Amino acid sequence: MAKLKPRVPVREQPVEERIHNFDSVPYGYNEEEAIAEAQRCIQCPNPTCETACPVNIKIKDMIHFIAQKQFKEAFLLTKEDDAFPACTGRVCPQEDQCEGACILVKTGQPISIGKLEGFAADWARKNGIKEEIKVPSTSKPKKAAVVGSGPAGLACAADLRKYGYEVTMFETLHQAGGVLEYGIPNFRLPKDIVEYELDALEESGVEIKLNHTVGQNIGFDELQEEYDAIFLGTGAGAPRFMGIEGEKLNGVYSANEFLIRANLMKASLFPDWDTPIMVGDKVGVIGAGNVAMDAARTALRLGAKEVSIIYRRKMDFSPARAEEYEHAKEEGIIFQELVNPVKIVGTDRGWVKGVEVVNMKLGDKDSSGRPRPIPVEGTEHIIEIDTVIEALGTMPNRLFLSKAPELKTDRKGIIITDENLMTSIPGVFAGGDAISGGATVILALGEGRRAAKAMHDYIEGK
Ligand code: FAD
Ligand code: SF4
Repeated sequence: MAKLKPRVPVREQPVEERIHNFDSVPYGYNEEEAIAEAQRCIQCPNPTCETACPVNIKIKDMIHFIAQKQFKEAFLLTKEDDAFPACTGRVCPQEDQCEGACILVKTGQPISIGKLEGFAADWARKNGIKEEIKVPSTSKPKKAAVVGSGPAGLACAADLRKYGYEVTMFETLHQAGGVLEYGIPNFRLPKDIVEYELDALEESGVEIKLNHTVGQNIGFDELQEEYDAIFLGTGAGAPRFMGIEGEKLNGVYSANEFLIRANLMKASLFPDWDTPIMVGDKVGVIGAGNVAMDAARTALRLGAKEVSIIYRRKMDFSPARAEEYEHAKEEGIIFQELVNPVKIVGTDRGWVKGVEVVNMKLGDKDSSGRPRPIPVEGTEHIIEIDTVIEALGTMPNRLFLSKAPELKTDRKGIIITDENLMTSIPGVFAGGDAISGGATVILALGEGRRAAKAMHDYIEGK
C-alpha cells in the first residue's frame, strides 16, 4: 500500500492578530488543498465515517467528488442530508463523530471531513450555487408554524416548504438563527454564512416573523387555531447558575448574556456599536464546554488581560470540540483544572474581586461516564478575578412552557415527544435543544428535518 500522506493543514489567522479581532480563525482549504486532502481518502467499501455521522451524510462520495474537482456535486450531495453544511463543517464535534470513526484514525491522521464539507459549501456560496428548491403548487396549501429560528426550526421550515406548505416562522429575537447567530462567535462561525442560509430560506417562501414571542405577544392558542401543524424549536436558552454566594455581585454574567451582548447586540463592534459590556482585566469562566471556550475567547478579544477557564475536572474530560480547546490554548487562555467555585467574593462596593474555590480529586465514573469530581476538604483558596462568566449549561425557557400547560415536559422543562417527535398535543411537534436540553447543531438540524416529515405525514393522515 502506498505510504499515506499527512493531513493537509488548514491555514489559520496568526494568534497575535486574531486575539484582537472577531474574524474567522481558520481560513479553510483552497481548491488545491481540498483536492489533496480528499485524495488521501482510501474510499473504504464500508465507510465507518458515514455510520458515525448523526445524519449519515454520504461522506465517501462527497470526498470522491472533491477529489475529482466536482465541487458542485459534492455540495449538492451533502445538502441531501445536512441542511447547513457550511455551519456543521465548522461546528460539529467531528473528532467524536465522522473523523473519530474514520479508518485512518489509527494512523493519527483521519481525513479532515469537516473542513472538506465546509470547503464544498463555501465554494458553492462563492460561486452562487444553490440547492434548487421545487415547491409543489397547490391551490390551497396547508399552513405550518415553526416556533424558533435556530437550526432545528430552520431545517424544519426548509423541508416543510419543500412539501408545499405555507410556512411562518416566529422568532422572539430581532435576528433569526438561534445560537448560530447569538451564541457562537463570528471567529468560529462567520455570520455572513448564517445570513446566506436565512436569505435562501426566505427566497423559498418561508415568512420569518421576528420580534414575535409565542406565549407573550402572540398566543400559542392563536397558532393552534390558524395552523394545521406546529413545530417547536424553542431551544434551551435559559442559563443555569451554580447557586453559590456572590452571584448577584457586579461583574457576574451567565455565558448566554455575555455572548448575546457581544454577538447579537454587537458589543464586539465597539465603538461603532455602543452596547455596554464590562470586561475586567482578569476574567474567570466557570465550565469547560464549547460555550465556556467561546466566552473565554470572546473576553480575550474584548480586552481582558488574563482569562482563565475554571474547571472541576481535568480538560481530558471537557465536552468542548478539540479544535476550540487547541485554539484557546494557543491564544493564551489559562486552564485551572480540578477546582470548583464555592463562593464569589466581592468588594465593599459590590464588585467581584475573586472566586473562592476548593480543590477537587477525581472519583469513580458518574452517570455522564466521566469521573466524579470530589472536593478535597481544607483546600479552599481564592483566585483573584474581577469578572465571572458562568458557562454551566442551559435549560428550556419556562416563560413559553408556562403558557402551554397541556404540553408535557420533564421536571427540567424538556419537552417530551414520541418516536415521531410529536408532543403530548396532537399536531404539535418539537425538536432540537427543546427536547434534548442541549445537544449539537447537527442533531437539531436532523430532528428539524425528521419533524417536518412527521408533520407532513400527520397532515396527510398517514
Ligand atoms: P436554538 O439554536 O437555541 O434556537 C432556538 C430559537 O428559538 C432561538 O432563536 C430563540 O430565541 C427562539 N425562541 C425560544 N422561545 C421562543 C418563543 N417562545 N417564541 C419565539 N421564538 C422563541 N453545537 C455544536 O454542534 N457545535 C458547537 O461548536 C456548539 N457551540 C455552541 C456554543 C454556544 C455558545 C452555545 C450556546 C451552543 C453551542 N452548541 C454547539 C449547541 C448548539 O448551538 C445547539 O445545540 C443548537 O443551536 C440547538 O438548536 P435549536 O434550534 O434547538 O435551538
Ligand atoms: Fe474515507 Fe475515512 Fe470515510 Fe474511509 S472512513 S471513506 S478513509 S473518510
